Amino acid sequence: MKRPATSVDWEGVLDGLSTFYHRGDWRVPYLRDHAESPFQVLVGTILSQRTRDANTERASAALFARYPDAPALARGRLPDIERTIRSTGFYRAKSRAIRAVAQQLLDRFGGEVPRTLEELQTLPSVGPKTANCVLVFGYGVPAMPVDTHVHRISNRLGAVRTRSPEETEQALRETVPERYWIPLNPLLVQHGQNLCRPHRPKCPECPIVALCATGRALRDGGPTPRAEDRVAARAKAPRGARRGPARGPSGSSHRSRGRARP
Ligand code: SF4
Repeated sequence: MKRPATSVDWEGVLDGLSTFYHRGDWRVPYLRDHAESPFQVLVGTILSQRTRDANTERASAALFARYPDAPALARGRLPDIERTIRSTGFYRAKSRAIRAVAQQLLDRFGGEVPRTLEELQTLPSVGPKTANCVLVFGYGVPAMPVDTHVHRISNRLGAVRTRSPEETEQALRETVPERYWIPLNPLLVQHGQNLCRPHRPKCPECPIVALCATGRALRDGGPTPRAEDRVAARAKAPRGARRGPARGPSGSSHRSRGRARP
């Protein structure tokens, strides 16, 4: 039987992470300190697809120095765009996509980046995550960008029981109060890049371990929400230090329920 998600103290999670990572008060309206051009958020997020953050930042800085807005990018020559963003990988497909996006912004939206998820997702290479990023980071509108970090940590916290970022986005929208939406993504992403990594999360060092179903389970020897976290912890623990049941309370393997890796 599928176990339900548990209620999470999001206020405590955001307080704990923003203090730990010195991010200031997450209650302060996000755009006051982080204003970004919606166009550059849109194009930068497309560049970030299947690419490491450092490569995205390097390519974005070079691209926007040459093509700061939609008219400039729409006029750009493909070989030059490809050369400029080469470090992102998939640079040929991405070059075609971002130039087409720039052209469609001019043709269909008067050169402006649209402000709705529905309109944004009619643009080439724009899916739910990119569209949500534009709303949050470009316009300061509450939205729910879910990448692999947000998907993984939300499941580890016990807030959702989902198999894909798309399912996680839907579940978080239904259960997380809207006042938490804007700070949630940047704080969970930073946590996912540091302590709450895909393999071997550093729970003993985590500032929100008391609020996390996985952290409590690994500490107390209970079942973790994601089977792979329990397996990783058992593989890491020395013989004799292993605690807790190998299987969930129903006795069936969680892996057999088909939970996907993020
Ligand atoms: S306690 Fe562990 S699993 Fe939970 S958020 Fe912290 S690092 Fe991640």
